[in-house]
Amino acid sequence: MDLRDVYKGLPEISTQQKDLVEKLKKSAEEEEISMEEVIRLLVEPEYDATYLHQAADEVRRAHYGREVYTRGLIEFSNFCRNNCLYCGIRRDNRKVERYRLSCEEIVSCADEGYGLGFRTIVLQGGEDGSYSDEDFCRIISGIREHHPDCAVTLSLGERSYESYKKLFQEGADRYLLRHETADKAHYEYLHPAEMSFEHRRESLYQLKEIGYQVGAGMMLGSPGQTPEYLAKDLAFLKELSPDMIGMGPFVPHKDTPFGKEQQGGLTLTLKMLSVIRLLFPYVLLPATTALGTIHPLGREYGLMSGANVVMPNLSPTEVRKLYSLYNNKICTGEESAQCVGCLDLRVKETGYELVSRRGDVRR
Ligand code: SAM
Repeated sequence: MDLRDVYKGLPEISTQQKDLVEKLKKSAEEEEISMEEVIRLLVEPEYDATYLHQAADEVRRAHYGREVYTRGLIEFSNFCRNNCLYCGIRRDNRKVERYRLSCEEIVSCADEGYGLGFRTIVLQGGEDGSYSDEDFCRIISGIREHHPDCAVTLSLGERSYESYKKLFQEGADRYLLRHETADKAHYEYLHPAEMSFEHRRESLYQLKEIGYQVGAGMMLGSPGQTPEYLAKDLAFLKELSPDMIGMGPFVPHKDTPFGKEQQGGLTLTLKMLSVIRLLFPYVLLPATTALGTIHPLGREYGLMSGANVVMPNLSPTEVRKLYSLYNNKICTGEESAQCVGCLDLRVKETGYELVSRRGDVRR
């Protein structure tokens, strides 16, 4: 597999851009680099960015070797009180057949995942108020009791400080909450008025203070996104210094207000993954399902560009298609949960190795 295939027929990287990659490489340790400068690597007319990807790969290998960590993703509910304009499970999408798994079903999915070799279980869902803190505590303690060597990651959206704290004390290790965009006006363009830019950011700092390993991130190519906003995203991530950065292309969903918008690009996503790896050598960085949706080899290319995590779906097959955030989402069929075997082969093809460990951050 060769990343050069992505850039066939495009001009070579310029000397100036090469210098920028070198500067970026040193930026984690010694050299100052402005985020506006970095953005020049992302938005200038298309060029062969293999040099950038190779630099990111070197850094990733220095920190994590050839290891790729897996997270078993349980999408436990597609009920959501929020109405994000880009998201297929938004409250106002009446075409969604809604489902929610019981606490027992969630724990049993995690058991199955453990048997398949997963040592991190991710609980992700819409903001479904029918689960109380006590419900989530039961689920977390259930997983921890059955599998003490397993990490529990939460991706439950915005909650109160007390709730985050309770769930942490019950044994949750990590929390994923994408900031979505670091520009307030852009945030307000992507979300309805009742959602708060400030609250989302504040949540991330609260989660950090409580002691979670924290993940932030954004969609690439989301409607209205500009290079300036991407520079702000990078500056915000620098300031927050998260342990994980979740970042994939925006993919339209036909039954949302952004259903006719353009999807985020493959090359923008790959270049951004490499830039992130160079700016944050230690970070846990997934090659997302959305990336695999916009290109059949998207996740493999993602790994070769600096990503070191994959998150296959562990939800019961009957509900997988219903957690439809965007059009044509992959891995929603029979094959997906137990697709570890297939994933294992796909990862090997890229020259890396899927490992069955918790895969904590190495700062
Ligand atoms: N409710 C939780 C939250 O808000 O963090 C977790 C579920 S939410 C659906 C998970 C992520 O899906 C969001 O952070 C968003 O970035 C991503 N997402 C939603 N719609 C998407 C789309 N159309 N294309 C790509 N990613 C999307």
